[in-house]
Amino acid sequence: MSRMISLRSGAVRKGNQKLIKSINRNIILNIVREYAPVSRADAARISRLYPATVSSIVNDLIAEGFVREVGLGDSTGGRQPVMLKLNTGAYLACGVSIEVDHLRVCLTDLEAKVMVSEEQALVWQDGPRKCLPHIVKAIRKIIDTQNIPGDKVLGIGIVYPGPVDTASGTILASPHMPGWGGYSLKSSLESELPFEIFVDNDANAAAWGEKWFGAARGYSSFLYIMADYGLGGGIVIDDQLYRGRNGGAGEFGHMTVDINGPQCKCGNFGCLDVIASGTSVTRRIIRDIKSGAETVCKELAGGDIERITLDTVLEAVVMGDSHACAIVEESGRYVGIGLANLINTFNPELIVLGGQLALKSDVFFESAKETARRRAWLAFGRDISIVPSALGQDACMVGAASLALTTVFQSPGMLAYA
Ligand SMILES: [Zn+2]
Repeated sequence: MSRMISLRSGAVRKGNQKLIKSINRNIILNIVREYAPVSRADAARISRLYPATVSSIVNDLIAEGFVREVGLGDSTGGRQPVMLKLNTGAYLACGVSIEVDHLRVCLTDLEAKVMVSEEQALVWQDGPRKCLPHIVKAIRKIIDTQNIPGDKVLGIGIVYPGPVDTASGTILASPHMPGWGGYSLKSSLESELPFEIFVDNDANAAAWGEKWFGAARGYSSFLYIMADYGLGGGIVIDDQLYRGRNGGAGEFGHMTVDINGPQCKCGNFGCLDVIASGTSVTRRIIRDIKSGAETVCKELAGGDIERITLDTVLEAVVMGDSHACAIVEESGRYVGIGLANLINTFNPELIVLGGQLALKSDVFFESAKETARRRAWLAFGRDISIVPSALGQDACMVGAASLALTTVFQSPGMLAYA
């Protein structure tokens, strides 16, 4: 709570009445979220606001539907206090994740719990004009089939696997994304749908979701690393996403780890992505099988090595296949070295590891964690927490919903998505 208290005192100095009221409202809403079930008296004590002010704010929050009364708590001498909780089902957010070969859409409650989700085929490489009608249809469908009044939907967060200008909701130019560079996803969707639209990069949104609703809850500076077919990341510093000058911060996969390494799709040589990503791991297994390596991957893919996916490789690792284990373990070691570089650069409180490689393979996770700890500068590395993503495989989709959800919980004046 110290963050909110300091925000409050900072804003009070130069704020006006309306702003102060709105900041106080936000403080109480977050106290209910963090401490529930909590009484009005305890909310007043924690916030250091006058009890009468807290009661008035709580009445407003109940009237708006954000908070509800949930029975009586223990007495501390007088009457039993009425306890308060977040009314998590009163408002919803829609999260949309554009992924390599499919689209995932969900509705979440106020605490980012997925209430319903759907997945459909979508080839984002087809470009935005072909993809947009499918995206709009999927959003309309999930909201319509749940019979939700439009005014209960706080907004729609949509995430894209590339750099994004979040202020305008425009996809930034990138050589691997033909047709998407310069496309305003926000305005295109807003012209089709009666909701506020929030657009961000997938790994940034996942980091944001982990901060508010996942493994990084309560942390103000941490790194989120997504180890999947590609390697990406999000950087949160002092409670805000750090985006860098061109929205490209967190492109962890394009850190050079071998100056003589093979060429990466970005044009550079020896990037972590080209050596240790899920795509590289899969390609390497296929190449090794062609050179005579013994692995169960071929059998798992029905004898057709071109059908081997990252999933196949990770299944082989779980089965104890020694070749697959060795490659995935090495991938973890390289990612661990990348993490050690980041630990030395950012000195974060926490690293959250997500994506299929980290979540489906203990071999990868442990290898990355141990290497990072061993290779980072001693004072930073020895006690760094490296934990798996709590949002798991839903991190991007739930992260997308969190872009809309956190407009409710973030302090006015600090809104990253507004
Ligand atoms: Zn690269």
